[in-house]
Amino acid sequence: MPEPRFAICDLDGTLIDSDAALVNAFVALGVTRSEISFGHVIADECLRLGISLGDYVHAYDTEAAKPFPGVDELIGVLDDWAICSNKHVESGTAELTRLAWRPRAAMFADAFNGPKRLAPLLEALHLDPSRVVFVGDTDHDRTCAHEAGVDFALAAWNPRAVERVGDIALKHPSDLIEVLGL
Ligand SMILES: [Mg+2]
Repeated sequence: MPEPRFAICDLDGTLIDSDAALVNAFVALGVTRSEISFGHVIADECLRLGISLGDYVHAYDTEAAKPFPGVDELIGVLDDWAICSNKHVESGTAELTRLAWRPRAAMFADAFNGPKRLAPLLEALHLDPSRVVFVGDTDHDRTCAHEAGVDFALAAWNPRAVERVGDIALKHPSDLIEVLGL
């Protein structure tokens, strides 16, 4: 049996259904719903929308976002995995603590000089890209995977995720178990 592959996961829109929590924080700060989009570096999105990052982090309810159905069970099966997210480190860390999820490593927006990349995580954890699968929900996630030479698995359980040729489309979180060879 070959060694199982290692999963790196995006957080928002992939493991947790955080759209409403993200939107509510912007709306509380006076942003119009139609102006809000997803998957960006939070500092950039705050800048674009003309609000302060500190105010946003304060307004974001870290108790609100629930895991997508089946994700908690998946995390229970993965005993070694990591997070790579554009989320603010305070919000993301608070959510991991609340959910009692303990990845080997979690890199948030503060770990990157700009949008997230997988290379720093691969380097820090001494991972061979060919033995890694990145699970995400956006085009940027797919680009991150391709740039790092890592296979991309789409969190197709998020109705907002759009499948492209070459994706490993996961209909349900438990589909990842077989992809990893666990
Ligand atoms: Mg996402």
